Amino acid sequence: MARDCIFCKIGGGEVPGDLLYRSDQCFVIADIAPKAPIHLLIVPNQHFTYLTGLSPSFYPVLGDMFAAARVMAETHGVTNSGYRLVINQGTNSGQQVAHLHLHLLAGQPMGAMG
Ligand code: 5GP
Ligand code: ZN
Repeated sequence: MARDCIFCKIGGGEVPGDLLYRSDQCFVIADIAPKAPIHLLIVPNQHFTYLTGLSPSFYPVLGDMFAAARVMAETHGVTNSGYRLVINQGTNSGQQVAHLHLHLLAGQPMGAMG
């Protein structure tokens, strides 16, 4: 656990958080400031900031995160209507929390990116 990391604290139970889902490798919470009607954060238990530097031993965790996203899409009934998955990395992306996470956004048309 990284000190002063809000996602480590929520995942570790140090800070209360409404966990919508939990697997061996990750957990899911609703974003505190949603940017879409459905805005979930899929967060690995292990603390990493960037994809860069991840060892191959972490790759199964990434797979688990995408599997959780698929489950969450099904649970929220948006598999057919569609959803967006986003990972922000670094300054230009606007990454706010330095703990790798996957956003799942859904519930309204979002249009093409760009
Ligand atoms: P980033 O910009 O780092 O990709 O995304 C971080 C996200 O975490 C933001 O959308 C922000 O609203 C959300 N967030 C920040 N702090 C908390 C928190 O304490 N609880 C929850 N549920 N979401 C948070
Ligand atoms: Zn962390």
